[in-house]
Amino acid sequence: MTAFATHRSDGVMLDQVAAIYGTPCYVYSQAALVERYQAFERALAGADARICFAVKANGNLGVLGVLADLGSGFDIVSVGELERVITAGGKPHKVVFSGVGKRRDELERALEVGVGCFNVESESELERLDRLAIDRGVRAPVSIRVNPDVDARTHPYIATGLRENKFGVDIERAEALYRRAATLNGIMITGVDCHIGSQLTELSPFADATERVIALIDRLAIEGIAIQHLDIGGGLGVCYEDEAPPSIADYVEVVRSAVADRDLKLVFEPGRVIAANAGVLLTHVDTLKPAATTDARSFAVVDAAINDLIRPALYDAWHAIDRVGQAGSNAVRASWDVVGPICETGDCLGTDRDLTLAEGDLLAVHSAGAYGAAMASNYNSRPRAPEIMLADGAMFEVRARESIADLMRGEKRLPPPDLGRFDRGC
Ligand SMILES: *Cc1c(COP(=O)(O)O)cnc(C)c1O
Repeated sequence: MTAFATHRSDGVMLDQVAAIYGTPCYVYSQAALVERYQAFERALAGADARICFAVKANGNLGVLGVLADLGSGFDIVSVGELERVITAGGKPHKVVFSGVGKRRDELERALEVGVGCFNVESESELERLDRLAIDRGVRAPVSIRVNPDVDARTHPYIATGLRENKFGVDIERAEALYRRAATLNGIMITGVDCHIGSQLTELSPFADATERVIALIDRLAIEGIAIQHLDIGGGLGVCYEDEAPPSIADYVEVVRSAVADRDLKLVFEPGRVIAANAGVLLTHVDTLKPAATTDARSFAVVDAAINDLIRPALYDAWHAIDRVGQAGSNAVRASWDVVGPICETGDCLGTDRDLTLAEGDLLAVHSAGAYGAAMASNYNSRPRAPEIMLADGAMFEVRARESIADLMRGEKRLPPPDLGRFDRGC
């Protein structure tokens, strides 16, 4: 079902990880990351292509380092992600910089280190980048993110390719913007880019988007604007429950065949499909509250919460939840709602899970390697969970658990107040 089912040696280690590092705890499989990355490489054999892992899916240095060592490029959306990539050993020239609101200091740093491409999302950003590049005496490599107006048929929060979304430039207007870009001395046009959404489980939106972008590239060629690369973004879905997303091979083939014999380098920005099923979130059952009556709900209160994994609360996402190892004594079989300790009714990791549980049992929340730790917060003053990478039968702590002191770092009390200033009432 998941990475940990295919990598058995990793699976048997989960209880050891929990014993050593405590819970909640993220666990990643190096083997699973490598396998997914290499599936892209195999599908792209013989093509001029670059795989740019979307750092926002999982920016842990250990994860980025594994991919950097395989030669991966990276898709970033902030200067923070850029610094992570550099620290992890990624090459700036293999970085594409996406994002609808890039600050001036972010553009400057990206120019300084020489990122491979700026995926520009507006006319205003183009002009700003042009001026900054001229000031530096360089030309910024640019692709314009076009919005091909295709319906990705995914959750509205993660659909990005419709005209009504905030992202990119309307494909109808893109030509005019390319003509403008061609006149700017600080800009070097290199590509066209799009990204239509996330967790796509069908090929047709990708095929439609690729076709529309290629039609634009052909029109630009007639005007004498040569495009060297086509960046199709990310968005390929994974199996969380019973989805049957296309394989990486079929997905890549759709793009390759649409490009046909055009001389275009291909760029992919996969995030979820690389990392989601390479990670689980481990959690212990803290307290069981079985239903008092037949129409009440049974709650398993666990030590992980929506501050660790917000996807169920934010996107109504479904994550498989399994018990790891044997159930404890007096285990109860029920249809459990697996909930965290946070003071929010929405703090729920999964509802109606048929599980046999005792307090103290260890659970694995699956498919948590993407948009899990990356979206974690400190809500309810909960320290962020550690992240552990399993590699060749060994455990590497790629992020230590936060301490309570970490949570208060940078905070201060006011100087003692002059209490006379306040009306202290009675
Ligand atoms: C989020 C994002 C990605 C990665 O999306 P996945 O669904 O995780 O593959 C790639 N490119 C851009 C521009 C993004 O915003």
